Amino acid sequence: RRKWKRVVGVLKELEERCETTVGRLKQVVDAMAVEMHAGLASEGGSKLKMLLTFVDNLPSGSEKGIFYALDLGGTNFRVLRVELGGQRSDLDPDVEQQPIPEQLMTGRSEDLFDFIASSLYQFVEKNDSVQSPITKLLGFTFSFPVKQTSVSSGVLIKWTKGFAIRDMVEKEVAGALQQALIRKGLNMRVSVLVNDTVGTLALGHYHDADTVAAVIIGTGTNACYWERTDAIIKCQGLLTTSGGMVVNMEWGNFWSSHLPRTSYDIELDAESPNPNDQGFEKMISGMYLGDIVRRVILRMSEESDVFGPVSSRLYLPFTLRTPLMAAMHEDDSPELTQVARILKDVLDIPDIPLKARKLVVKICDVVTRRAARLAAAGIVGILKKIGRDGSGGITGGRSRSDIKMRRTAVAVEGSLYTQYTMFREYLHEALNEILGEDIAQHVVVIVTEDGSGTGAALLAASHSSEN
Ligand code: ADP
Repeated sequence: RRKWKRVVGVLKELEERCETTVGRLKQVVDAMAVEMHAGLASEGGSKLKMLLTFVDNLPSGSEKGIFYALDLGGTNFRVLRVELGGQRSDLDPDVEQQPIPEQLMTGRSEDLFDFIASSLYQFVEKNDSVQSPITKLLGFTFSFPVKQTSVSSGVLIKWTKGFAIRDMVEKEVAGALQQALIRKGLNMRVSVLVNDTVGTLALGHYHDADTVAAVIIGTGTNACYWERTDAIIKCQGLLTTSGGMVVNMEWGNFWSSHLPRTSYDIELDAESPNPNDQGFEKMISGMYLGDIVRRVILRMSEESDVFGPVSSRLYLPFTLRTPLMAAMHEDDSPELTQVARILKDVLDIPDIPLKARKLVVKICDVVTRRAARLAAAGIVGILKKIGRDGSGGITGGRSRSDIKMRRTAVAVEGSLYTQYTMFREYLHEALNEILGEDIAQHVVVIVTEDGSGTGAALLAASHSSEN
């Protein structure tokens, strides 16, 4: 009995530390807007990098022609072709995906890009004439940190995700691909170089011209948005025809003392390969949520016998993956049979009473609710920065009633949002709470599909008259 009390104590403490009252969320909103400002004011001015993308116009739907995209950002790469008819329509791109042979991920850049160029050549050959004198345009989504120098060029800052091609670091990325295309004799120009969130924003904007920001919540999390160039203070004299530019926030690295943090977060961070990095991401994204839950169950198991003898699996980082955590959270069977199965199969915790299974569901709920609400606060932070939260922008001044709120759309991608119903519902609930119903009804969240591929092809189209 006393043991059960202890477990309840651990849960209570977790709930308190994860608390995201509207007041707290509004502090996070303000902190996000302030950090965005700081990151735009000077290089290194904030944990938010606020990277320039040089994407200065977004697809409108009037684009015409055939465009290609190459999406490289993980263990697979994809090539894609889309035909645009000059009117907004359902896009139905041809897509081919291929794994990258492991030795190419750590070898020479020439070999990697020659391999990619060959695949592209074969792909083009299937659909169009490779010999055609008309230069085909290619949007290149390269989801690694890049210091962009123009819309179609940038240098690799460092590799992540298992890539380690040394001769590429600090080199021009699009140029390396372009050289390989030339070696292959493929008449194709790399006309834009973007990351995946920028592709998502482009695709969102193609479908809905009120789209001002894009957020990805999958394995990791990031966001980008449309900013006025005169607000990008760190780049004086930046001029674009449109007067704006997409800024890649790299918001996974956002940090604020207002974020509700637990001992589990602190331990997770300390044991991670990148301590003190990606603090926001570690509370929100799919890579980490399951592991926070594992840590709570471990603590409870150590402090009581509610989960039987402490399972050695509980000590293994990342044994509980986020999709399984979601499955437990959303188990609506009266006996919580999914929870029982996952605890047994994955964590080697068999035969625990219903009461304890309910406790596990509660832990999942607390962790996911906090994540979704923080993501919502991040989104409102962006809206606040650009004066679309109904408050009249960060400097304030005007009263709420003076402002006619414009319809505002945010494009969202990533499995946490699209596959995890509770996450999505909590995010929407928090948007409503923070903004208030009057304002919230003007803010729409739009799910896009495959912005990192299709969006890049659309950007190749909307930037086709440049460079
Ligand atoms: P990416 O790896 O490009 O971000 P996704 O957007 O599909 O791709 O995100 C994958 C991540 O989403 C996985 O790491 C996993 O943690 C999480 N995830 C996948 N499916 C689910 C699900 N049904 N419920 C909760 N999380 C999920």
